[in-house]
Amino acid sequence: MEVSFIANTKKRIFIGLISLSLFLIGITLLVAYYLVVNDASTLHKVLLIIVGGFLLVMLILLGVGVLGLVFNLIRQKPLPFLQKIMLMATNALFPVALYLGKILGVDKETIKRSFIAVNNQLVKNQEVKLDPQEVMILAPHCLQWSECPHKITIDSKNCKRCGKCVVDDLHSLTEKYGVSFVVASGGTLARKFIKEFKPRAVVAIACERDLCSGIQDTPLPVLGVLNIRPQGPCFNTCVNLEAVEEATKFFLQINNLKK
Ligand code: SF4
Repeated sequence: MEVSFIANTKKRIFIGLISLSLFLIGITLLVAYYLVVNDASTLHKVLLIIVGGFLLVMLILLGVGVLGLVFNLIRQKPLPFLQKIMLMATNALFPVALYLGKILGVDKETIKRSFIAVNNQLVKNQEVKLDPQEVMILAPHCLQWSECPHKITIDSKNCKRCGKCVVDDLHSLTEKYGVSFVVASGGTLARKFIKEFKPRAVVAIACERDLCSGIQDTPLPVLGVLNIRPQGPCFNTCVNLEAVEEATKFFLQINNLKK
């Protein structure tokens, strides 16, 4: 099942950048090793072998993770035994990829969207079949109509369902599938909700920046859905409800739309 939470995002941008990062890290380590080994005492050489050995193991693990990702993207086949290593490589190399992208003139938001798309693919590779109460839809408060007087970050049920913003539709969707729905004004509140509701998976709606940090912070499978910002960032934003529904159905393993 192909779920296009982030339309037209090229996963290969992120994969290309992390592969290049890995290559450059490897070259740097080799050069450093060569320079120090030719100009070091015996004690320093022993220390160097220990530190170098550790770094080499890390490099091999990252390399296996990146290779797994590439294989996964080309063959579209899950590799459950490499799942953790692929996630580790993705998260560890993300900051390096951003830095490298800046040097190469690749737009930061494009890299982040690519990272989210890669994450979503990794999550979709997992075998999950959850009960509705184990799935949480986490939305940002900027989805709420800016003039709405009701405070929905304390309790999303404070929404009066007037239909002026997409929060109403998200309520309908969560009722349809029986999953929980929370609205957070930031990472701290999002973490509090996760602690409180104890979901086993999250459908997160946010901008590129918040989705990237949320995915990296959360030790749970997170499917990211980008918000739509017709009036600029953090103001009267919207979301593709079909994408949120598809992500929810994936965790519940529902293959056909409930009408
Ligand atoms: S749908 Fe809910 S959150 Fe949106 S404006 Fe109406 S009452 Fe406020």
